[in-house]
Amino acid sequence: MAKVTVKNLNKYFDNGVHAVKDVTFTAEDKEFIVLVGPSGCGKTTILRMIAGLEEVSSGEIYIGNVLVNNVPPKERDIAMVFQNYALYPHMTVFDNMAFALKMRHIPKEDIKRIVYDAAKLLGIESLLKRKPGQLSGGQRQRVAVGRAIVRNPKVFLFDEPLSNLDAKLRVAMRAEIVKLHHTIGNTMVYVTHDQVEAMTMADRIVVMKDGVIQQIDTPLNIYNNPANMFVAGFIGSPAINMTKGKLIRKESDLYFDSEDYQLKLTPRQAEVLQNYANKDIIMGIRPEDIYDSRFDAMAESPQKFITKVDFVEPLGNEYHVVLTTANNEYTARFDPKDLPKMGQDLSVTFDMAKAHFFDPE
Ligand code: ADP
Ligand code: MG
Repeated sequence: MAKVTVKNLNKYFDNGVHAVKDVTFTAEDKEFIVLVGPSGCGKTTILRMIAGLEEVSSGEIYIGNVLVNNVPPKERDIAMVFQNYALYPHMTVFDNMAFALKMRHIPKEDIKRIVYDAAKLLGIESLLKRKPGQLSGGQRQRVAVGRAIVRNPKVFLFDEPLSNLDAKLRVAMRAEIVKLHHTIGNTMVYVTHDQVEAMTMADRIVVMKDGVIQQIDTPLNIYNNPANMFVAGFIGSPAINMTKGKLIRKESDLYFDSEDYQLKLTPRQAEVLQNYANKDIIMGIRPEDIYDSRFDAMAESPQKFITKVDFVEPLGNEYHVVLTTANNEYTARFDPKDLPKMGQDLSVTFDMAKAHFFDPE
């Protein structure tokens, strides 16, 4: 088994694009680490450099404790699963999965056993004689994973392996890959633009933007303590609500003053943000931290204010409700029991202990 370390990694393409900027992180032995960020932020380029398919402009890549910058891809003991699966169309599933083993001159009987074991693990034993053209998207995806498994590599790299599947299958395969990781326990570096995949699959998440790492932490810590406005906005659905305002001091308390309401900060927030008094700031509040003050635990809060219910979107087990104030719009997540009607006025409170504050950019 092995950890993967990238240190001050940079990639300049010939066209001058600086795609990866001083990226440093470690995927620990057996860890499932997810690189997430919008399209074009450099995720694939990082994976390809780890795999040895792309030259490093500067920086170091270690597998275990071995510097691999100049080690050819075949000798890195890494398997990569690509977004398009890259199966050989003229070969059967068995031959696709056996290919790398045949190249290594492993005895036929062993190959049979290894391929069969992997196929069983993935539930594709019955497909071994088919060709990729006779498979569904989900089955092809499993074969691509199977082809990586048989090589028993130290490290698996996944580049958006689920993005070509329909929504339902994507959810199912998400769970299968996590279970697979549980079973075989190898180090995995997984790339996606989908924050839900990152949140649900990762031991730790690396959030990227424009080639630069924004934050590295567990899914929960990233959700609860986003390092900046980009991370806060990228992780979470519906997205966190951002409001421009000012912090004002009244006696010993600090208040967030939007144009529509004033809300008192907790003593802890006031302490951390004391230097922001009288300065512009942005407050982020997540949809689940907005409360309908008719019913909820927050009903006792003195910090209520009136909004208008602009839109109600029922989702069965919960409702997303769009609320407007004179200058702002908020998406809230309510329990079905609290359902207000479109067009009505609604008194709400924010759970200020859960509010996030950011420097205006
Ligand atoms: P992601 O996988 O996060 O979508 P990529 O790593 O594919 O992002 O690309 C990062 C940036 O590098 C993008 O701006 C992309 O256009 C650029 N890029 C990727 N591959 C090449 C290449 N071979 N030549 C020039 N620019 C490239
Ligand atoms: Mg990519």
